[in-house]
Amino acid sequence: MRGRMMEGPLLISNLIEHAGRVHGDQQIVTRTVEGPIVHSTWGEVLRRSKQLAQAMTEAGIGRGDRVATLGWNTQRHLEAYFGVSGMGAVCHTLNPRLHATQLIYIMNHAEDRVLLVDITFVPLVEAVADKLRTVERYVVMTDAAHMPDTSLPSAVSYEEFIGGHSGNYSWPTLDESAASALCYTSGTTGNPKGALYSHRSTVLHAMGVAMPDVFNLSRATSVLPIVPQFHACAWGLPYATAATGSKLVMPGPRLDHEGLTELLQDEAVHFCAGVPSVFLGLVQHWRETGNAPSSLEMVLLGGAAPPQSLIAALEGEFDIEFRHGWGMTETSPLGSVNTLLPSHRSWPVDERSAFQTKQGRPPFGIELRIVDQDGAVLPHDGHAFGELQVRGPWVVDGYFRSDAEELSPDGWFPTGDVATIDADAYVQITDRIKDLIKSGGEWISSIDVENTAMGHADIAMAAVIGVPDEKWGERPILIAVPTPDTEPTSERILEYLSHSLAKWQLPDAVIFVDALPMGATGKVQKTKLREEYAGG
Ligand code: ADP
Repeated sequence: MRGRMMEGPLLISNLIEHAGRVHGDQQIVTRTVEGPIVHSTWGEVLRRSKQLAQAMTEAGIGRGDRVATLGWNTQRHLEAYFGVSGMGAVCHTLNPRLHATQLIYIMNHAEDRVLLVDITFVPLVEAVADKLRTVERYVVMTDAAHMPDTSLPSAVSYEEFIGGHSGNYSWPTLDESAASALCYTSGTTGNPKGALYSHRSTVLHAMGVAMPDVFNLSRATSVLPIVPQFHACAWGLPYATAATGSKLVMPGPRLDHEGLTELLQDEAVHFCAGVPSVFLGLVQHWRETGNAPSSLEMVLLGGAAPPQSLIAALEGEFDIEFRHGWGMTETSPLGSVNTLLPSHRSWPVDERSAFQTKQGRPPFGIELRIVDQDGAVLPHDGHAFGELQVRGPWVVDGYFRSDAEELSPDGWFPTGDVATIDADAYVQITDRIKDLIKSGGEWISSIDVENTAMGHADIAMAAVIGVPDEKWGERPILIAVPTPDTEPTSERILEYLSHSLAKWQLPDAVIFVDALPMGATGKVQKTKLREEYAGG
């Protein structure tokens, strides 16, 4: 028997239409690429997204066509999310930190027809434009007054592009399974692969992450995504905040500590999300200046494992609730979040922050399990470890323009991460499969050793890799960046580690470097470290 309820597709245009109508006066603040901080509203974003949809239609862009963006977190980029997807085209976010050859590969593979580009990245695009086979139109996300001199063919400023249109536009009623956005994984191995999101997956993810035990968003929340819009759609925050009518504060190109701190303070930001490496610097800056933003209530870190010392600093020193998220481009991205149970709250900070290094529990919609090498499901006892697999309506079932079978025979997506799951359903990632270290038949968790090392005040960042060893197969070595103005020695660091790690888990060597190689999404590039150090 069918239920007697209305049917209607879940569409991205519903999100912006809701934000504009119900939360029309709620603020959208941007530190613009041109410099000044500009205040706007969800109502304005709705009107201008419609103008963009009209301009795209006039430019001949239709359903399923790919429109690429190369930009910072800004209001115009936000309008692209809603205008492009809303009209039925696919918003393809490009990562400007990629190597030029990868950018060319990705844009040709996606067959992007239009590129919306920030002034900052115009030179980057000019250098590769003759190799972009499908781009017909370049729209520079600025106004006529700030339009740079450019060799890009038929380039137009965004304001001129949308300017002649009324904004009097009705969104089409699309199939909710239609593609809405495209995001390539950084492709640390092989060519980048495209995760192709749908309207349905995006709306469900937005509703999922807005919930209290996930991002805890509401009309009363002021949100600053440090995570870029080109990194898994800023973890869904643009869509989720449209659903909840939150205030959205966009940092634009200024991701330096002063710039971020100023914006967090002036815009009374409550919730902020980003990768751990950015926060390591921010927390240090707050300590040095004594100027931590007073409004900040919650920080969500994900994309890589945050060290326990950082968690303890946020919670213990700055009294900011810490939440730890895990996910992948392929999971939209949110797969789990560590929100404490009420009973954990009374634990001392040390114990609590150790627990918070776990990647947490799946929100409603996501299922997680671990399997052994033969695909047999392992128990959730906090000890057994195996590959983490994920299933749910915002998880990919394959990649854009690829026929390769990606799922397990029973329909789960293998993440390439190794994890344990405890009896309370908290996941702990111990490594990526390709980063695992096996020494004398025993596994060593590089994340665990890194975390322990970063507990030492003299270590700012740490990475552990396995190097070939005749006797043991592989042995770990630690590559560390000292905290400014300190001079740690290998002996002292190893002695410190020996308090928490077993003898066979201790690194064979500690190498001090000025900086670790970082990838396009703010993670340490262990492949680079292995190339450099694993030869012995
Ligand atoms: P890539 O950087 O490969 O393009 P993603 O940004 O999608 O792709 O990264 C996903 C991977 O990042 C996960 O599979 C996992 O290895 C790692 N990761 C994400 N969040 C965490 C976390 N909280 N702790 C440890 N690793 C994480």
